[in-house]
Amino acid sequence: MIKKISIIIFLGVLLVFFSVVGYGLLLQRQVGLEIIFLDIGQGDATLIKTPFGQNILIDGGPDSAVLKRLGKNLPWWDKKIDLMILTHPHDDHIVGLNEVIRRYDVQMIIYTGIIYDSPAYENWQELVKKYQISTIVVDRPQIINLGDNCDLEILYPRQAIYGQGIDNLNNSSIASRLICEGTKILLMGDAEREEEKELLATNIDLSTDILKVGHHGSDTASSQEFLDKVQPKYAVIEVGENNFGLPSLRVIKRLERSGAVVYRTDQNGAIKVKKDSQNVIILFEK
Ligand SMILES: [Zn+2]
Repeated sequence: MIKKISIIIFLGVLLVFFSVVGYGLLLQRQVGLEIIFLDIGQGDATLIKTPFGQNILIDGGPDSAVLKRLGKNLPWWDKKIDLMILTHPHDDHIVGLNEVIRRYDVQMIIYTGIIYDSPAYENWQELVKKYQISTIVVDRPQIINLGDNCDLEILYPRQAIYGQGIDNLNNSSIASRLICEGTKILLMGDAEREEEKELLATNIDLSTDILKVGHHGSDTASSQEFLDKVQPKYAVIEVGENNFGLPSLRVIKRLERSGAVVYRTDQNGAIKVKKDSQNVIILFEK
């Protein structure tokens, strides 16, 4: 009899436990698209959560701060990064990715394969091998379909640069545009005017709703010609506080004159863009 009661109590406890967990899962289920420009100090780290449950991380910032930020924006059980993009291997983009590879289940990586001599890049390449992560080396523009009505366009580089060196690594940055649920987000990495010029020369439609401004708002990027084509409604600058004159006041003026509302991670903290079938909502998280 006592045994029977114990079993009933045990089953009851199990039922309550799974109900609570199930309710928790339901509460945290995401509807629509979310893009979070993470506040990681001086550097770039952008998390995209697609309506189909994929997590895409573009760059990882200069240190392990990205882990805490990911922890805040992903449910505790979700340790999967479906796609990691390394725009270019400067420390303020790559160091945090090394921490992410160690702690998360990274399924796929996109990078250019450019040559650059740094301990962090060497470490990154060793980790990619160690964890046997599939890689795509960008050698041409391409479109990655993420689901119904949701594509990631890789716009730059236009040709293979694998195994090559470059004078200005910033101009090897992978530029991509997410077109999802009718919203366009252009992510420029640290691309400067030279890369912008190459994109302008292609005559592709660069119009966008949200621009992740190139090279932390430096005046070496975001030329007027480029902004005339992009015409962003919102511009996000990922930049650290008191950072050697970045972002440039001239760039902020150019962006505002182009009609964009400007947000910056050094002042706003993390910038979270949520998009359901109708509305774009922008939230800040200090
Ligand atoms: Zn940078």
